[in-house]
Amino acid sequence: MGRSNGQPASGSNLPGRLHRHRHRGGWEGVPSTPLLAAQSEAEDEILEAIWLLREQGSDRVPELTQRADWPGDKAPLERLRAAGLIELADDTVKLTPAGEARARAIIRRHRLAERLLADLFEMEEASIEATACQFEHILSPEVTDNVCTLLGHPPHCPHGRPIPRGECCIHYRKDVRPIVLPLTELPAGAQARVVFITPRAYTQIDRLSTLGLVPGSIISLRQKRPAYVLRVGQTDLALDSAIARDIYVRMV
Ligand SMILES: [Zn+2]
Ligand SMILES: [Zn+2]
Repeated sequence: MGRSNGQPASGSNLPGRLHRHRHRGGWEGVPSTPLLAAQSEAEDEILEAIWLLREQGSDRVPELTQRADWPGDKAPLERLRAAGLIELADDTVKLTPAGEARARAIIRRHRLAERLLADLFEMEEASIEATACQFEHILSPEVTDNVCTLLGHPPHCPHGRPIPRGECCIHYRKDVRPIVLPLTELPAGAQARVVFITPRAYTQIDRLSTLGLVPGSIISLRQKRPAYVLRVGQTDLALDSAIARDIYVRMV
């Protein structure tokens, strides 16, 4: 999607804070129709902010507009209401079904981009955020599902926040080969590198990490039944499938 306002596209000089987009411009003076790319991005940012606020348990407009990256007035909210994407009542804001669907898709693209950049490109934490912010506006639904499939349909972003499920997570796709997959999908006998372990498994990981099972370690899967047995270094570990499902690996 192009930019119509001539603002620099790079966010590389952004500070490391999460989810800010002041560099984009395009917040003010954008005609309400036709829907320009810049305005659509500005709307995306607000829908995303509403979603993040809700994850923190709040629907309060003042909390939304107190954010450092907020444009400074309520006009953008009025535009979103006019577009049927949000409902405003007193000091609260709620996503309509249409707004919910759009916010969900934005969050999904953002968090999948984070996973992609962290796990496959092994990018530094500081650069991940700015790049993920750009990806969230440009990934098509088709590409998004391909990325999700390549990454083994990860349940969480690297910060441990849930990634909304997509069509691909429900219907198994045969046309894209995953690069990253849960240990349970790895064929017996295969060698793999641990890419990430979901937060749910952290308590087990404490125990397992002392045995060398951490992101980056090379494992070989010796058997899948009756329990998963993998070799890490010189040690054989037996895991039940609930834990094996939370360990994502990449074949080597
Ligand atoms: Zn994240
Ligand atoms: Zn998926």
